[in-house]
Amino acid sequence: MTAQCLRCMRVFEPKQNQKWCSAECRSKSSYERQESSSRLFWESIAPASLGPEIAALDERQRVPLLLASQAPPNTRGYRVGAPNRFTPEAKQYLRWFPSAEQQWPALFTLDPLQLPRVPAAGVYIVAYFSPDGHIHQGASFKMLIPFFESRVKWSRGDRKLLLEPHVMAQ
Ligand SMILES: [Zn+2]
Repeated sequence: MTAQCLRCMRVFEPKQNQKWCSAECRSKSSYERQESSSRLFWESIAPASLGPEIAALDERQRVPLLLASQAPPNTRGYRVGAPNRFTPEAKQYLRWFPSAEQQWPALFTLDPLQLPRVPAAGVYIVAYFSPDGHIHQGASFKMLIPFFESRVKWSRGDRKLLLEPHVMAQ
């Protein structure tokens, strides 16, 4: 039996109800839980449950399959968000990509699949949106994105997750 670390998403063999792969992940995770509401949202979202065939893939191959397989019907696209890991913990809040500046509408598409373009490799929340720009509640999950683009900057990510539906109609 395998589990996925709640912090770093590594797949590991748990002893009893072990939720983190290592003492380091456990202690950093409890520290991270003390942060702001942005952090609470971050902590409230669970990793996607991986079927055995997806768990067997390498991290890079998992990304497109997870994005497609977790999407609810009637999804126009998705955004990914995470705290900036390079700033002090107390100043962290989530940044969302694509930002309105990166791409308009500010959604990566599923069909054709656009891979996420993010500022650093790491764990992100995935949030799906309907064609009229509303978030699909309850469909979000965390996923490891093992690649990044150096020209995408944390500071350019949107602090706001939600889109303005009236501008999506175009
Ligand atoms: Zn871990």
